[in-house]
Amino acid sequence: MNYVTRFAPSPTGPLHLGHAFSALTAFDRARQHGGTFLLRIEDIDRDRSRAEYEALIYEDLHWLGLNWPEPVLRQSDRMPAYAAALEALTALGLCYPCRCSRADIRAALSAPQEGAPVHGPDGLVYPGNCRGRSMSDAGPNDSIRLDMARAVDHLATLPAFNETGSLHEGRHQLDRETLVHGVGDLVLARRDMGTSYHLSVVVDDAEQAITEVVRGADLFEASQIHVLLQALLGLPHPDYHHHRLIRDETGKRLAKRDDARAIRLFREEGATAADLRAMVGL
Ligand code: GLU
Repeated sequence: MNYVTRFAPSPTGPLHLGHAFSALTAFDRARQHGGTFLLRIEDIDRDRSRAEYEALIYEDLHWLGLNWPEPVLRQSDRMPAYAAALEALTALGLCYPCRCSRADIRAALSAPQEGAPVHGPDGLVYPGNCRGRSMSDAGPNDSIRLDMARAVDHLATLPAFNETGSLHEGRHQLDRETLVHGVGDLVLARRDMGTSYHLSVVVDDAEQAITEVVRGADLFEASQIHVLLQALLGLPHPDYHHHRLIRDETGKRLAKRDDARAIRLFREEGATAADLRAMVGL
């Protein structure tokens, strides 16, 4: 199979050293495998995405020496594909509308009978207040959730995935207990977006025939969600490669707001692409 990977930034801020490391790792792996490196713009969050950050992504990555086939896939152009995937999961009877705010969820979880709230890859595990509501009752102020117990029961056997990154290398079998109690009923479509990161990424990794997903170790726990959605939607499972994270001098993972480490600033100060590679240990 021809190796295909991708770098999938969100244009919600300038790319920083952590993004440079991720993009270069994916690009280098594509080259080592004689494969293809794709760029995808993850701009489903219309409120936070900016055209100028998208333009800066292209500039920064070209400056780093990366290239990719055009046209670039932009998630904002793909809403019908995400709606179709949501429709398919709904037709399987696995979805329900949810009107709970974050505050509602925190309040429900603070009830004495609830025990200690569990944090999953998506934040607090949803206590299930709206579970049982029917999709025919869904309104514009509802998000759409996956009924995790039903989703797991729908599959005769749970899938597994291959991890090629050294931090978690090996084969990872999904398990019911973790999915139902450690992940829970995740949001498939946010009320303000009509989709979610998880749903879009799964639909697009399949659309772009990605064979290995290269990204930061912060998303390792999210992979079980993606692999489950692939199984439910009848999509192939790529391999995963979660790389180490670039941290600041206090050991904190770099975030979008770490503008001090923006690739653009290093560029403006006269650094070369080779300097940046050295800075991130490549
Ligand atoms: N848009 C995501 C991010 O910027 C990418 C996640 C992924 O590679 O799956 O963190």
